[in-house]
Amino acid sequence: MYANVIIEISIKKLDKYFVYKIPKELEDKIKIGMRVLVPFNNQKLEGFVMELMKEYKAEFEIKEIIDLVDKEAILNSEMLSLGKYIANSTLCSLISAYQTMLPKAYKANHNTNIAIKKVRYLVLNKKIKEVSDYIENTKYIKQQELLEKIIIEDKVKINSLNSTINTLIKHGLIRIIEEEENRYHPDIITTKKEIKLNEQQEKVTEEIINSLENSITYLLYGITGSGKTEVYIQIIKEVLKKDKTAIVLVPEISLTAQIVSRFTNQFKDNIAILHSGLSDGERYDEYRKIIKKEVKIVIGARSAIFAPLTNLGIIIIDEEHTPSYKQDSNPRYNAIDIAKKRSKYHKCPVVLGSATPSLESFARASNKVYKLLTLTKRAGLATLPKIHIVDMKEEVKKHNFIFSNLLKLKIEEKLKNNEQVILLLNRRGYSSMITCQACGYVAKCPRCDISLTYHKTTNTLRCHYCGFKTPKYDICPNCHSNELKDYGLGTQKLEEEIRKMFPTYKIIRMDADTTGKKGMHSKITKEFLEHKYDILLGTQMIAKGLDFPLVTLVGVINADMSLNIADFRSSERTFQLLSQVSGRAGRAGCPGEVIIQTYNEKHYSIKYAKNHNYLGFYQEEMKLRKTLKYPPYYYLVLVKINSKDYELGFKHAHKIGDFLRKNLDKNTIILGPTMANVFRINNIYNYQCIIKYRNDDNLFKSLKTINEHYKKENKVDIAIDFEPTKL
Ligand code: ADP
Ligand code: ZN
Ligand code: ZN
Repeated sequence: MYANVIIEISIKKLDKYFVYKIPKELEDKIKIGMRVLVPFNNQKLEGFVMELMKEYKAEFEIKEIIDLVDKEAILNSEMLSLGKYIANSTLCSLISAYQTMLPKAYKANHNTNIAIKKVRYLVLNKKIKEVSDYIENTKYIKQQELLEKIIIEDKVKINSLNSTINTLIKHGLIRIIEEEENRYHPDIITTKKEIKLNEQQEKVTEEIINSLENSITYLLYGITGSGKTEVYIQIIKEVLKKDKTAIVLVPEISLTAQIVSRFTNQFKDNIAILHSGLSDGERYDEYRKIIKKEVKIVIGARSAIFAPLTNLGIIIIDEEHTPSYKQDSNPRYNAIDIAKKRSKYHKCPVVLGSATPSLESFARASNKVYKLLTLTKRAGLATLPKIHIVDMKEEVKKHNFIFSNLLKLKIEEKLKNNEQVILLLNRRGYSSMITCQACGYVAKCPRCDISLTYHKTTNTLRCHYCGFKTPKYDICPNCHSNELKDYGLGTQKLEEEIRKMFPTYKIIRMDADTTGKKGMHSKITKEFLEHKYDILLGTQMIAKGLDFPLVTLVGVINADMSLNIADFRSSERTFQLLSQVSGRAGRAGCPGEVIIQTYNEKHYSIKYAKNHNYLGFYQEEMKLRKTLKYPPYYYLVLVKINSKDYELGFKHAHKIGDFLRKNLDKNTIILGPTMANVFRINNIYNYQCIIKYRNDDNLFKSLKTINEHYKKENKVDIAIDFEPTKL
C-alpha cells in the first residue's frame, strides 16, 4: 500500500502530495487524516495522510513511512473537507489550511515537548478499618496525620516522596496513582442570578429553537444590554437536550472571566475554552476535552470555529461585526464563512449577534439571505444611556485640551455618588509623537514609515508596527538642541492627568501594555467589577462585552482617532466603537450617561451614535457605499505586493496591475497599484491593488495564476486578501 502525504516544507508552501510506501505492519493502522513521520531530504518530517492507494507506479524509488505519530486521525472527514474549502477559497496551500485549524500540539511538525501533565496522588491501599487500626497502633504522628488526611480527602497530591510515604507504601497501606491534570483553570465569578427571559428574548429564542435542524443563518440584532447572551444560553440548553454540541465565538479581547463565567455558571465543566492567552499545554488540555468528547460546548476566539465537535447543534458568533473574525495573515479565512460551511454539514443554525451588525450582514438580512431577529429594549430595568456630544474646538479655546468642563463635572458627580466611570482613549503609550521645535525633526521608526510613540513607564520610544524600541533621548539628533517636545495623547499620559485631577480615587489602566502578562486582563476586569477601582481607562479593549453594573458614566476622550483612519470603513468602525463603549453605561438599574468629545461633532457617525440610531446610520452609510462602489454593493479583493527591494516591488506591482487590467471583466474596477497606507513596515515596501467587482468569471482564475506565479518568486511576495477587513 501507498499513501499520499502533505508536508510543510517551505515558506512558500507548495501544494504537493508526496507518495510513500506503507510498511506492512502499519497497513492496518494507518488512516486518512493521521500524522505520519516520513523521510524527506535527509530529515524526518511529519505530514498528514491525504490518500491511501493499493498500487502506485513510479519511475523512481519510493521511500517508506517511518512511523505513525498518533493512534487516531487528527483530521476527521469534516475537517479534511474544510481544509480543502479554505485552500480553494482563500488561495492558500492545503497544508497551511490544516495547520491553522489545529492547536500546536496537533500540527504536523509540532513541538514534541507539549505533553500531558500527570500528577501523582496517594490513595489508600487497604480497607479503612485496617488503616484505622494501624493509626491507633503506630506511634509515628506524621504517619497518623498523613493517613487521616488521605481518609478524609480520598486522594492527596504529592510532589515528592519522603520517609513517611515510603514506609506506608512498604507496609502496603497506601499506593501512588497518576492522573492527568488540566492545566487551565479560568477565574470564575459565581453568580446565582436566575434570569427569566423577557418577551422579546423569549420570542427570538423560540424562533431559533424551532428550527434547530436547519442550516439557517440568523442575524440577531439586539442593542447593547438587550440580553443577547441570555438568549445564547437558553438556545444552548435546548441544543444539549437534543444531545448535540455548540460553538460560541467571542472576540479575543472580550473573552474574559466575565463572559466565561456566565456560561460556566450554567454549564459547569461541560465547556472547553480556546483563546490565544492559553499556553500550548493549556490549549492541548482544552482541545483534548473536545476530542475525548468530555465537553459539549466550546467557547473561544476565531480559531475555535475549527473545534472538532461532532454533532453540532448551533454555532453562535457574538459581536459578529468584529474584524478579528477574519484572520489577517495566511490563510485569510473568515470564521463566519467557516461557520456557514459547518452549519451546512451539520444541518444546524448559525446565530450572528451584534448591537451594530456589519453593513454586509445587515444588507444580507435585508435581502432575506439571513433571517433577522431583533431585540430593541434593554433587558431588566436598564435603559439606554443619554449621550452628550462635546465640541472640542470650543473647549480648546478655554484651554481644555484633554477634559471638557462637562466631562470633568460629570466624573466628579459620579465618583461622589460612589459610582464607576469608564474612559476610552484609543491610543496606547504616553504621547503619539516626539518632534523638535527648533528644526522640525520627528522621531520615526528606522524600519517603518511611522512616527515613534513615547512610552513613559519604560522611558522608551516604540514603533507600534514592528516593535522597534529605543531609549528616549532629550537632545535632537538633527540639530542637537534640547527642544524635543512630545505631542498627542496616549493612555499613559491620560492616566497621569486623571491621577492629578482626582488624587483620592482609585484608577486602573487597561491597554496592550498593562495586559501583556498572562491573566492581567481578567484580573483588571474582576477587580473593577468588585469596585476596587473607581475609574477604568483604556483603549478599545474596554469597549467590548463587559458588563459592570456600577458604571454610570462613559467618557470618550477623542472620538476622532478612528474617524481619521484612511479606510472606507472608518465611519462604520467609529459608529461601532462609540455604540459599544456607550453600551457599557447604565447596564443595571442606575441610568447611564455618555460624553463623547470630538472635533467632528457634525459627522454622521457621531450623530447617529448619539441617538442610538443604528438604522439611520446604516441607511446613510449604504448610500455612500453605493456611490463609492464599496461593499456591500461591490466585493473587494486586496492584492498586496511586498518586497525589500523598492524598485523590484514597484516593477512587479505594475506588472500585476497590468495583468489584472488585461484579464478581468471590463466592469471590474482595478485601483492601483498604489503605496499601502503605511508604505514601509519593517524595511519591507508595501504596494497594493484593490479590485472591486460584482461578478467576474475571470477573477478567481486570474488571481490563482498570479498566486502560483509568485510562489516561485523569491524577492517579491504577494498576498491575496478576499473581502479584506482593512485597506
Ligand atoms: P447583551 O449581550 O445583549 O449586551 P446581556 O446578555 O449581557 O446583554 O444582558 C445585559 C444585562 O442584563 C446582564 O447583566 C444580564 O444578566 C441582564 N439580563 C439579561 N436578560 C435579562 C432578563 N430577562 N431579566 C433581567 N435581567 C436580564
Ligand atoms: Zn532639532
Ligand atoms: Zn517600525
